[in-house]
Formats: sequence, C-alpha cells, structure tokens
Amino acid sequence: MARYTGAVCRLCRREGAKLFLKGTKCASDRCPLEKRNFPPGQHGKDRKAKIVGYGLQLHEKQKAKRMYFTLEGQFREYYEKANRAAGVTGELLIQQLERRLDNVAYRLGFAISRRQARQVVRHGHVTVNGRKVNIPSYQVNAGDEIAIRESAKKLLIVEQGAQYAAQNPVPTWLEMNFETLTGRVLSLPKRKDINLPINEQLIVELYSK
Ligand code: SF4
Repeated sequence: MARYTGAVCRLCRREGAKLFLKGTKCASDRCPLEKRNFPPGQHGKDRKAKIVGYGLQLHEKQKAKRMYFTLEGQFREYYEKANRAAGVTGELLIQQLERRLDNVAYRLGFAISRRQARQVVRHGHVTVNGRKVNIPSYQVNAGDEIAIRESAKKLLIVEQGAQYAAQNPVPTWLEMNFETLTGRVLSLPKRKDINLPINEQLIVELYSK
C-alpha cells in the first residue's frame, strides 16, 4: 500500500501549521515549526506570501489529508462518498476520517501519533470485536470494541501511547479502559466532538468546482 515516507516535519512547515505527526515532540520546543515557521527548501523563506482563494482551499485539503496520513485518491473517495450521502458534506467527510481504525487507535492511546498508530494496526496488534484487523482505513461503527492484542500489550510504543493518552483526554464518542487496553465506540463522532483545526467547508468548495 502506498504511503508517504519522507520527513514528516516538512509537511507541517509546508502547511504552516502543526499537524501533530510526531507525538510528544509536537508539544515541545523541539518542534521545528517553533523556530522555522516557513516552507522548507532553499527559497522557503521567500515564499511566505498571504494565501487566499484557491490556495487557501488547497491548503485546508492538504492539511486534513496529511494529518490523517491519507493519499489523494483515498481522500477524494471520502469526499465523493460524503457528497453522495444525506447530510452536511464537510461534516461527513471529517467523520469518515475520524472513523479510520488508525485514528481511533491513536485517539484511544495505543500510540502517540496517527503515524505510529497506523504501524500498530498494520502489524496486526489491534482487534475489532475480538478479530484482528490490520487495515488502517477500516471504518469503525458505533458499539465496536477496539483492543490491543494480548501479545502486543508490552510493546514500548503501546506503553508510551497509554501514558500520552492519560494526559490527553479520550474524545466523548469513545471510552477507554486503560487497565485492559480496551476501548469502545459509544457513537459515531459529530463535528463538535472532533477537535480539529480544519475548515472543512473550504475543502468542499475546492472539490465541488
Ligand atoms: Fe509537525 Fe510535530 Fe514535527 Fe512539529 S514536531 S513540525 S507539529 S510533526
């Protein structure tokens, strides 16, 4: 499966916003964006022009796509599906991103970033309703039980994730038992439940041109 394998902090610098791809480093003064908040590359500093119109819409799409670690084709599919469904397109788009299994694993504290959570899922350490699921884009449903497999509970990555999650509250649409490392989807997330610095309306405007 294709995925971005380059330096992730470059992505934040490109968007001029924290995309939280590196876990604890993102909240510390080691975050490169704290000192170099301009696009990467030799002429990065010269490219800090005010972005408006189409550029702004493109930036919002890139931010969302990169935050959830999806590629263009898959992101576009999320939009098309949201556009066909009844409801507010932007909200349905964000809901699909949020329902991804790698995102849920991150939100529940199985890893300290979505990128790490993707790896935890890909390596087969996560179960949904008792069955191993190793597809990061798998969409969870209300009532699903998400857990870490017994054999993976001692993994450093999982232990660090649990410590990280203890300081970052689990969203209200999920519940988590940190003793058994088992979580549950209480309901599908609504936009107000999702703490995400993205203006999804700009993404809808971009795709609906
Ligand atoms: Fe982005 Fe985190 Fe890197 Fe900062 S440390 S640039 S927020 S990925």
